[in-house]
Amino acid sequence: MTTFNDEYSLLAPGPVNLHPEVRKALALPMIHHRTPEFDVILKRILEGIRQVFQTKEDVYLLSCTGSGGMEALLVNVISPGDKILAIVSGKFGERWAEMAKTFGAEVSIINVPWGEAVKPESVADHLKRFPETRAVLCQACETSTAVAHPIKEISEIVSQYSETLFLVDAITALGAYPLPMDAWKIDGLVAGSQKAFMLPTGMAFISFSKKAQGYFDSAKCPRFYYDVRKEKKANAAGETFFSSNVAITRALDVVLNLINKQGLESLFHTIHRRAEFTRIFAQKLGFTLYAKSPSDSVTALVVPQTMDGQKIRLELEQSHNITIMGGQDQAKGKIIRVGHMGYIQDQELLKLIDNLGQVLRKFDPGSLTLEQISVVVDEGRQWLEQNP
Ligand SMILES: *Cc1c(COP(=O)(O)O)cnc(C)c1O
Repeated sequence: MTTFNDEYSLLAPGPVNLHPEVRKALALPMIHHRTPEFDVILKRILEGIRQVFQTKEDVYLLSCTGSGGMEALLVNVISPGDKILAIVSGKFGERWAEMAKTFGAEVSIINVPWGEAVKPESVADHLKRFPETRAVLCQACETSTAVAHPIKEISEIVSQYSETLFLVDAITALGAYPLPMDAWKIDGLVAGSQKAFMLPTGMAFISFSKKAQGYFDSAKCPRFYYDVRKEKKANAAGETFFSSNVAITRALDVVLNLINKQGLESLFHTIHRRAEFTRIFAQKLGFTLYAKSPSDSVTALVVPQTMDGQKIRLELEQSHNITIMGGQDQAKGKIIRVGHMGYIQDQELLKLIDNLGQVLRKFDPGSLTLEQISVVVDEGRQWLEQNP
């Protein structure tokens, strides 16, 4: 299997296909992070990345995966014994609730059935009863179910409480669809390099509102590597506190430049268009949508009842060189998940639909005729031309 985009498509909800310019940046000779050459890049990034967060606050670059960023959001603002409200609607919500418990928080959970979005009223009701809640945790997009949660509405509720913070895991949302941190009064936001930021795995990006920054000194969770106060001081001096992830940071510089050239709105449109295409044409093949409030960054498709999503996913990879993801836990075998972030060409979208059709036929020859598949692909091609 080659890694070239025209032969192999990585259509997972992260990691994603890399832009050719990003791959070039990753192949550059290594430089040291305490050099004037790197300092220039770091300075440009620390300024530029705010535009993606749509914030005036500092954004911190962490050399860890997204989950490290989730931990960093917590430990810098909460203390053992704090009341936390966690919205759990899938795997990543479960993880964040577990993390908060691990750090000694008193965690209440709003359990949302998989495939559904949380109702903002349920958050409002909880906060009315427990106004001393320190933080509300929610995924912007719960990647395991492809659900987009109503972040703006929840934020409006949480922001009415002067001592409650709204922390949002936007690892598959920030950079994929609108999530303006300042305008929506989000208190903590985490993004991940291999998802909407279109980079290899290995970095997380976080930012805190002024309200959240007010807890940096009083937060009593043990923290060392993720003590953002160290990073803040180092950044102010034009450095990172620990060794910088030079390779991904340089690639981030390329991504920010690409986003800047394209414009954030246009990038959101590109991703929305891929999601729309996938939703429309996968349904024409016989799949149905799993998420009641579907995210633009990833689509979860319920596979026909007689079939196994895990087998569809494997066959697509082994015979057609396309990687998508299956379902996890209770959705395992029932759904497949297609990511819309990263560098994806129209040709790949058409190939996906065509090959998904072929795979369905392979497992159930009666499900679709070759003729039907080619009609769907032709319609798809027309749709892409008519919806630039
Ligand atoms: C991928 C993902 C994570 C975890 O990120 P890692 O980089 O695997 O640590 C957390 N939350 C969401 C919503 C994700 O999609």
